[in-house]
Amino acid sequence: MDSAREVLRGRFGYGEFRPGQAMLVEAILQGRDVLGVMPTGAGKSLCYQVPGVVLPGLTLVVSPLVSLMGDQVRALLDAGVRGAYLNSTLTPGQQATVLQRALNGTYDIMYVAPERLSDPRFISFAQQAAIPLVAVDEAHCVSQWGQDFRPSYLAIGQFIASLPKRPTVAALTATATQQVRSDIVRLLGLCNPHVLVTGFDRPNLRFAVERMEPKRKLARVVAYAKNRPQESGIVYCSTRDAVEKVHEALCEAGVPATRYHAGLSNEERAANQQAFISDDAPVMVATNAFGMGIDKSNVRYVLHHNMPASIEAYYQEAGRAGRDGEPAECQLFWSDADISTGRFFIEKETENEGLTPDEAQRVRAVRRRMLEAMVGYGYTTDCLRTYILRYFGEEGTPACENCSNCAGGFEALDVTRGARAIMRTVHNLRGRFGKSVVVDVALGKNSQRVQELGLSKAPCFGCLEVPEGAPAPSAALLREVIELLATKDCLIVSEGTYPTVGLGPRCRDAATDDFTLTMKKAKKVSLGRTLVGGAKGVHSPENEALFQELRALRKRLADEQGKPPYVVFSDAALRDMCAKRPTTDERFLEVSGVGATKLARYGEDFMNAIRAFGATSA
Ligand code: ADP
Repeated sequence: MDSAREVLRGRFGYGEFRPGQAMLVEAILQGRDVLGVMPTGAGKSLCYQVPGVVLPGLTLVVSPLVSLMGDQVRALLDAGVRGAYLNSTLTPGQQATVLQRALNGTYDIMYVAPERLSDPRFISFAQQAAIPLVAVDEAHCVSQWGQDFRPSYLAIGQFIASLPKRPTVAALTATATQQVRSDIVRLLGLCNPHVLVTGFDRPNLRFAVERMEPKRKLARVVAYAKNRPQESGIVYCSTRDAVEKVHEALCEAGVPATRYHAGLSNEERAANQQAFISDDAPVMVATNAFGMGIDKSNVRYVLHHNMPASIEAYYQEAGRAGRDGEPAECQLFWSDADISTGRFFIEKETENEGLTPDEAQRVRAVRRRMLEAMVGYGYTTDCLRTYILRYFGEEGTPACENCSNCAGGFEALDVTRGARAIMRTVHNLRGRFGKSVVVDVALGKNSQRVQELGLSKAPCFGCLEVPEGAPAPSAALLREVIELLATKDCLIVSEGTYPTVGLGPRCRDAATDDFTLTMKKAKKVSLGRTLVGGAKGVHSPENEALFQELRALRKRLADEQGKPPYVVFSDAALRDMCAKRPTTDERFLEVSGVGATKLARYGEDFMNAIRAFGATSA
């Protein structure tokens, strides 16, 4: 473990392992398989990179993120670690060279795409090489229950078993559900693994939810981005169309934005991703096709222009903000239309996946429940952070006092009476009708549809009792009550040719005596910068000015060397530099994220800038 700490300090420039990292690294160094479940930004890479340097021989890192391997290896080289990668972006000649060098012991760590593992040339290489450790990044890709299933991941277990000497295997993922976890252990063939699930909380992220009409979203997103001119952010949209519109609006407003979706050519996608990573276009507008494995650490906000399909997806995407540990914002804008779109996708996609009707049925049910939990996030009146953590099985976390709910951005409206009437109506109509009919019947409204169906004689017709003097709830409100009940699994709403509302698995909850339901009623919230929490108090105007200078220097050096700026130094490292203002090598090494290699490579430039700044401000 001492040698691991030495590598951590000397190469990566960090004083201490984070708690989860220390346990995983220690287990790996003792030759024990591990499964590490940690949220995005927790620092999974170091868990295998540090052992990769410490252990003699070549550590293989299996990763699906081919487009990212170049960056990851560049970051390693920049820290003075001997790294390489092997994937289809290299010519056959280059691949042969890499393999030859690897056999000669040139590298400590090699990234490979999962497809390589069934390539005969690679297999014969692996038979000869000394491989002490195989790290499987994004390990949830092996599970069909996850969102990113990759058939090529199924070959990993066999590959490991075929090696002459079994390596230690480290599996890492940010997906926490029990089902996915047990798939990973089984399908990768982990031996008695040390399983570590670290807290999913990301204290530096501030969560906010805002429900709004679709037509208001565009202006809201533009205003948000314009308000943060220097900052890097991602705007996620659910369709290519929306990406195009938002991108155009941002560009028109003068925000340096770029875009990413599956409809663009490979070249354009690669170029746009590069522009984002290099901060030439610090704002990225994208579908969920973008970002898996993007580890740009200085993303200061992630906006969702539409509601994603699950809390897993949301937390993963939102979690791309603030990986450097500095304050960052995650804001969800949503509307009812997003829910129908989500349901529509669920019905449509399961038609096309070549599943048996039974399987398709099961997959749909799983996805519906995932979506409902996401909708529940939009509706909840609880602390947003608590809601997410509870979803991942972390009970008992105190409210954050930082999210938009804790900040009191709404009033709670008691809708228990309406909910009871809706439940009774759905029960009575036996789940045969859609939302409008249910609402009309509950309200006792003799609409044309109700007449056609002869439902005015149903016992539940007009069952919603309104106390004297109180206003009758609107049909729109009752429709929302239906959605809210669906998020609690009391109802199931299906979209499709004949949309229906039926009873859900927890419908009995709503029949109990102590059942209550409150709904969030929007109140205008100011989402000015003042709400950003967790600032460390080092952002004085003077430090801010120095920070901007160091950032410009970082960008210049990065461009000169063809590297992303955050590979040179993270925002967190620059902030620490501003606070410490080192002017000697020794002091420079005290900055978080500075190791010997970075000192040698960049120390002088940055210390010169700090000296010059000190001189002007004195
Ligand atoms: P993950 O893969 O879990 O999403 P990364 O490995 O990309 O996260 O790490 C996220 C950020 O945290 C990176 O900028 C990394 O340099 C930083 N980091 C990781 N471990 C430490 C540590 N022990 N001390 C300080 N910073 C760290």
